[in-house]
Amino acid sequence: MNFFSALSSQTQAILEKSLCNIPPSRSELLHLLSLDPYGMESDFLRSAAKSISRKRFGTKSMLLCQTGIESFPCSADCAFCNFGQSTFTQEVSRISNDALLLINNTLIHQKGAYAHFLLFMHTFDFSFMLDIVERTRKALPSNIDIVINCGDLELTQAQELKSAGVSGAYHVLRLGEGKDTTIQPEERIKSIADLKKVGLDWYTCCEPIGPEHTNEEIIDQILLSSEYECFQNAVMRRICVPGSALASRGQIDLLRSAQIVAVLTLAMIGNKELSSIAIHEPDLLGLSSGANCIYAEFGINPRDLATDTSDGRAYSLQDCKAMLHDVGYDSLMQAHGYTDLPIIL
Ligand code: SF4
Repeated sequence: MNFFSALSSQTQAILEKSLCNIPPSRSELLHLLSLDPYGMESDFLRSAAKSISRKRFGTKSMLLCQTGIESFPCSADCAFCNFGQSTFTQEVSRISNDALLLINNTLIHQKGAYAHFLLFMHTFDFSFMLDIVERTRKALPSNIDIVINCGDLELTQAQELKSAGVSGAYHVLRLGEGKDTTIQPEERIKSIADLKKVGLDWYTCCEPIGPEHTNEEIIDQILLSSEYECFQNAVMRRICVPGSALASRGQIDLLRSAQIVAVLTLAMIGNKELSSIAIHEPDLLGLSSGANCIYAEFGINPRDLATDTSDGRAYSLQDCKAMLHDVGYDSLMQAHGYTDLPIIL
């Protein structure tokens, strides 16, 4: 068998076009997503995406850190999450000032993180959020951004957060929004438009992907991120959190997740604002298929029953650096144009 005959003429034409920096059409992206994740065509797809990503980002990667700030039964009631009010079994908690300071100091001493994400529930006490932001901004040097991950925001709140030192916001119109969550899709879109309006960097993700999601749903979500010009796009599979309502639907495997990373990488060709492509949770296959960014995590975590995810499923900053190094990245981007830092293990 000729090795290259494993590639259909249709797949070959789409990959050649993409390698010339022309983004595939929606129907072409759908074709790529429908390939067998375990077949050779998908291997070619992932290889092409890796090459496109390397041309775009070189050997620069991005290291992010997320800290879960508080937990309580969340009114959004996402059926895949640990904190949804229907299935909440965790302790109600808030991070202490000392614990937050310790994480900020860890970020300073271990060097290399681009941004510190502060994770809240869907609803939040805005003055508490501002206090956390101000403490974090005071603790961190200006080469590390602050990014907010919370529920839907008013335009004025997005402005206040920006004035307090926040540079970006993570916001997603999730797969199954309004069906597997109590949030209406229009609210998510409005928040995304508002946070972009005030000049915050928009971090987003194709998530939380489960085995039941169709290729059409996945592509629609990816193309929305491209249309609204995200600062970062990403892929995250849904984790079967024990006790969550959707755990019984199962989990996609890492090869399928990597195939989606590759398709997303091709879909984002030509998106000028894109700084990076992330894979959640960190994994080598995603990082070998177009992604160049992963997250270390601290505190509470919607995908983990541990009270502090550092003692559970999270990767540490050093784990992430080692993983980025293992796929050939040699430097870490820094916020606001500060010089990249080498990856030191
Ligand atoms: S994913 Fe976020 S918004 Fe949804 S239930 Fe969990 S904490 Fe709330």
